[in-house]
Amino acid sequence: MDKILTNYGSDVFSEKAIREYLPKNVADKLLATWRKGEPLDPTIADAVAEGMKKWALKKGATHFTHWFQPLTGGTAEKHDAFLEPIGPAQAVQRFSGKNLIGGETDASSFPSGGLRSTFEARGYTAWDPTSPAFIKRHENGATLCIPTAFCSFTGDTLDMKTPLLRSIQAVSRATERLMKKFGQKKAHVEVTLGAEQEYFLIDKKYYMRRPDLLQTGRTVFGAAPAKHQQLEDHYFGAIKPRILKFMTEVEERLWQLGIPAKTRHNEVAPAQFELAPMFEDLNLAVDHNMMIMEVLRQTAEKNDLVCLLHEKPFEGINGSGKHCNWSISYGGRNLLTPGDNPRENAIFITILLAIIRAIEMHADILRMTTAGAGNDHRLGAAEAPPAIISVFLGDELNAVLDAIEKGIRKSGSGIKGRMRLGVDSLPALPKDTTDRNRTSPFAFTGNKFEFRAPGSSQNCAQSQMVLNTIVAESIDAICDKLEAMKGPFNENLQRLLQYEVSAHKRVIFSGDGYSAEWTKEAARRGLPNLCDTMSALAPLKDKANIALFSKYGVLSEGEMLSRWEIGMEDYHRRIRIEAGIALEIARSMIRPVVAEEFARHASALKDARLGRLKFGIQGLTALSRKLGAGLDDLNFKCDKLEKSLDKGFHEDQILAMNDLRKTVDRLEALVADSRWPLPKYRDILFIY
Ligand code: ADP
Ligand code: MG
Repeated sequence: MDKILTNYGSDVFSEKAIREYLPKNVADKLLATWRKGEPLDPTIADAVAEGMKKWALKKGATHFTHWFQPLTGGTAEKHDAFLEPIGPAQAVQRFSGKNLIGGETDASSFPSGGLRSTFEARGYTAWDPTSPAFIKRHENGATLCIPTAFCSFTGDTLDMKTPLLRSIQAVSRATERLMKKFGQKKAHVEVTLGAEQEYFLIDKKYYMRRPDLLQTGRTVFGAAPAKHQQLEDHYFGAIKPRILKFMTEVEERLWQLGIPAKTRHNEVAPAQFELAPMFEDLNLAVDHNMMIMEVLRQTAEKNDLVCLLHEKPFEGINGSGKHCNWSISYGGRNLLTPGDNPRENAIFITILLAIIRAIEMHADILRMTTAGAGNDHRLGAAEAPPAIISVFLGDELNAVLDAIEKGIRKSGSGIKGRMRLGVDSLPALPKDTTDRNRTSPFAFTGNKFEFRAPGSSQNCAQSQMVLNTIVAESIDAICDKLEAMKGPFNENLQRLLQYEVSAHKRVIFSGDGYSAEWTKEAARRGLPNLCDTMSALAPLKDKANIALFSKYGVLSEGEMLSRWEIGMEDYHRRIRIEAGIALEIARSMIRPVVAEEFARHASALKDARLGRLKFGIQGLTALSRKLGAGLDDLNFKCDKLEKSLDKGFHEDQILAMNDLRKTVDRLEALVADSRWPLPKYRDILFIY
């Protein structure tokens, strides 16, 4: 068989491995949990562990770890060796059902937002049998990784996975309920995600000389080069051999991990790229995205490159996002695809309106999921969607909703390729909506919704967890209303859909999301515009949001408030670190160079004057003046930044940092290239 296919999934405890290493009845039970979300039979744990151990040892693993996603946004692992001594100089390799199912760990250094007091610093990890175990490799060894959830001693969640799994359950139940109303047979609901990952690659030699990149992942100084992305010659351009080598290695590794990396291309900014996998089951896709980010970073390292996942590594140049493509299917049929028959189309429109209703009513909490110091630079910067959450549907679907609202029958209107909806008086439905609007944060793209606001470094679990929950609430609300209505189902549905369109259409917007008019128009429509992290986190404290998330058992009040606290703390810390490193660089790297440069020119000027030269005096005077004034300015701005750090208000720190940046970026053009202490944008951004 060809090598690519034999390698695909070879480092995953896949169905093939399960069948090979587990007794048949155990394998059947585990696979049923995997595929259909059936509860796991706890008595099979020992047998699963034994098979998994044998497989992992064969793969060269010496250790196992519960692999989880704490609220820091990254992943965490603590390794235990399989090795266990059984006497002097004697040992066996052991891995039990208990080891597999749960672990106890000292969690005191993970963020908990006050949920866990230090005397109860224990945390628990619990096996997620719906995401397969996999092997992580390093140069001289390997580790068996078991995807797990992570919670505190008191049972509060301290991770991203637990609420995600709860939300999938919530939206699945609601969908089943709705499908029953449509007379559909009971079937498995699957929520799917395809997360497009954008990233920058830069040469390691530059990275090592930029303390700001090293410490914060973004440059706090640096003037834009004359040419960056204006000519749009990078987007989809030919991929350079050095980058292709990197991408090929990334894909090879991802494929071994069973991650369906599918597309690769150059992005808009120079040195910016994108990797998109095929969409998968949501929980798995989230785990896979976390692994993708890690493989990108590690493979870059091997190639003397550095992968930057920060949302805005370079000012004045496009930042990176992570478009989350979401859809929901029932019994294998995507509910966001207009169907083959009238009933399926009625279902499609109902689900579509449930989603629109969810976004209209809960835009604030969805926006919350994209909050963060990095994404603040990106959202609303005319490269990424604005912070105002709106929905884009495209002209054809807009027309359909319009017709529904007005109660117009458009069926049989003779437009080719249109289908009739299940309810007689509903309008015809376009079969293929391919409209695109890149400026919309939440766009319908034919058979899925694409949420474009999440940042490149963020864990998709957060936004997907909220999306599932608010959609569950919306579907349930529609079911409640249908149940309360008397009369024939079709007529009730028709009336209800008509009402839902008019009640929630203000969130639909097809125009240019980057324009200033839209900000005004959105304000007129009463849509929230939460433009920075502070305001975007606030919805976590909102009573109605807390009630909603508690109702669905996704997050308790304490868990919501802890997330607010963690988000705020993370934000303030990041700003403080950025301000701190900016000050350090400005004082210890930039200032001495500017002072020397000034002294050099001032002394040249003195010599020129003494020599009574005819030429050069003017030029040297101008340059010395600029350098001298720049030096004073630099001094002043540094002092101001220092004061803001002492006082501790992040707003002041941001202002002072931006102010200092202007001065430093101006000086960059005055100091001799060879003496400027930081690699410049024009070097970093063009890889050869
Ligand atoms: P574009 O850049 O045009 O948005 P890409 O091909 O880069 O398109 O990414 C589209 C992403 O959407 C891919 O990850 C793809 O697998 C995913 N996708 C396609 N169909 C669905 C679906 N039904 N549900 C979820 N994701 C989907
Ligand atoms: Mg894309």
